[in-house]
Amino acid sequence: MKKIKTTYSPSFLTDYPTVDCENPDRIKFIHSGIKDVAEFIEPEPCTLSDLALCHSEELIETVSRRKEVFDTASLAAGGAIMAARIALVEPSFALVRPPGHHAGHDFNGGFCFFNNMAIALKDLLGHDMIENALIVDIDLHYGNGTYDIVRSDPRISFRNIDAHSRESFFSYLDEALKDAADYDILGCSLGFDTYIRDWGGLLNTGDYRRIGSSLASANPRFFSILEGGYYIADLGTNTRSFLKGVLEACS
Ligand SMILES: [Zn+2]
Repeated sequence: MKKIKTTYSPSFLTDYPTVDCENPDRIKFIHSGIKDVAEFIEPEPCTLSDLALCHSEELIETVSRRKEVFDTASLAAGGAIMAARIALVEPSFALVRPPGHHAGHDFNGGFCFFNNMAIALKDLLGHDMIENALIVDIDLHYGNGTYDIVRSDPRISFRNIDAHSRESFFSYLDEALKDAADYDILGCSLGFDTYIRDWGGLLNTGDYRRIGSSLASANPRFFSILEGGYYIADLGTNTRSFLKGVLEACS
């Protein structure tokens, strides 16, 4: 069976200082839950110039004072860059932490340090590998950091799904994807905190399969990056369900 190329490193299990809910078990459970659908590839950390594509010198300097955080966050951004490059050929997934969508040009927040999605897309744009990109953020929370970084860049469109019911989630998703095929790449900020047993209380495990399939059908040059998701016992099952949907769309 075809597998999804997934950027992952055991270094994401580093127990760097952060909030309790954003802990290494998130990655551990997903890693063991998706083994039959994922082909793991080890990324390299991103460079300082990659970080500077999206973040101020002051912010980079502040994070760099906390070595474990800086090293893991740079590796996460490197995993996102690698996944975005793979997506030019086939769908991919970045199984990384810390998440990134609440990190803006000169601020951090919400357990995020560097904006993995924005860095990955600015890297592709900077190397003339794409001319434009669409980001669809399906995390429970608004991707304020991503918006902050990309709002002044006409090459990148950012759409956030902010739904208060399962039905509205899918209708907003369809709306967000209606012209997705017109973009050179589609990136999804993938949060599982919308899950019925997580903070959002909206979606069930099978719904993630439908979402993965909708996204990868909308544009085959598709990648996703892990953002939130804190109901650890079912994170592996939900991620597997999402990746199965992606595989279905590209089979
Ligand atoms: Zn979230």
